[in-house]
Amino acid sequence: MIRAILALILAIWAGAGIAQGFSGLARVNPEATRLSDTRDGMRLEIGLSQGVPWRVFTLDGPPRLVLDFREVDWRGADPALIDWAEGAKAVRMGAFRPGWSRLVVDLNGPFAVAEADMRVEETSGAARLRVDLQKVPAERFAAVAGAPALPGWALPGEGLKAQIRPRQRGEAPLVVVIDPGHGGIDPGAEQEELVEKDLMLTFARELKDALTRAGGFEVVLTREADLFVSLERRVAIAHQTGADLFLSLHADALSEGRAHGATVYTLSDSASDEASAALAERHNRADMLAGIDLTGVDDVVADVLMDLARQETQPRAEEIARALKLGLAERGLPLNSRPLRSAGFSVLKSPDIPSVLLEVGFLSSRRDRENLRDPAWRATMAQAITEAISAWRIADAARADLVRQ
Ligand SMILES: [Zn+2]
Repeated sequence: MIRAILALILAIWAGAGIAQGFSGLARVNPEATRLSDTRDGMRLEIGLSQGVPWRVFTLDGPPRLVLDFREVDWRGADPALIDWAEGAKAVRMGAFRPGWSRLVVDLNGPFAVAEADMRVEETSGAARLRVDLQKVPAERFAAVAGAPALPGWALPGEGLKAQIRPRQRGEAPLVVVIDPGHGGIDPGAEQEELVEKDLMLTFARELKDALTRAGGFEVVLTREADLFVSLERRVAIAHQTGADLFLSLHADALSEGRAHGATVYTLSDSASDEASAALAERHNRADMLAGIDLTGVDDVVADVLMDLARQETQPRAEEIARALKLGLAERGLPLNSRPLRSAGFSVLKSPDIPSVLLEVGFLSSRRDRENLRDPAWRATMAQAITEAISAWRIADAARADLVRQ
């Protein structure tokens, strides 16, 4: 049954999607959108202004329902309004990749897709998507869960190849990959009118400009728009670009204590403190919340060769963290009371690229929010980071000579 539905969906997806070349966005009709409990499960209905290619699947650990749509504009659709069925814990929606958006429902148990279809009204062209979910035994759910492998869906070069790149010697332009945290369906922290994903994209662009102006840098952003990029993909981009340095930018909200001021995180198996462990876990969970299948992701880097590379990379990452702390202090920028911390952030797991995560400030702090809002303050921050990277680059190249001797 499920297989037949999937085949039908694939037919719709392949036929309608590519052939007609959808122009414009389908809008969500909130009145025709609901999630309701049924006798043996749940029913999800989504009203759209026009028919679009779509696909549906479930993921396990924890159980989730994932719907992907081509060209759907979620603005105006409030997840809080449709999050009312007993079987659903939460609903998220937003941009997933160029031209595609995603809706994720956290399920309260093993609900498998029993039936799914999209009907388009002849006169108005409006579409109604219906997904019927049925409560099934957990083993059955686990057996059918998983993202269908669709041709053309995987991004080129997804996944990591075991390749070790040569260490920078201070001669060629330094390739810096800047990673604006979160994006698309994953907004990150939200406080007042500030949204972490937007703020970090803005700041990433400003930092790219500052580095470009300074000269001697080649800068690549892991995302250039409000799009979801998985953590694994961010790491893969750093590899494909041949990055000498990977810098992930964040401005999270912390409920624990009164965190404020810039904080630089490096990778470690055991976190430096509880707040850092929680922060890393929250970031790593973002992929799961966005409907990424994490099964087997860790195998990608679980390799002896990679561990050896990390032994050389880790001290270099710690050096860049110290350089950032110094650079920010020299410019009089506010630092956290413990500015250097570590935890198991998945995005920092490149074995051969020094990687750090910078919390530029915390959106939970009023003072940090005022700073982050201020373009002049951000320009000073971008300048300080540029100077720190320049200083690190020289010292790092000198240490490379020492390592060789
Ligand atoms: Zn963040």
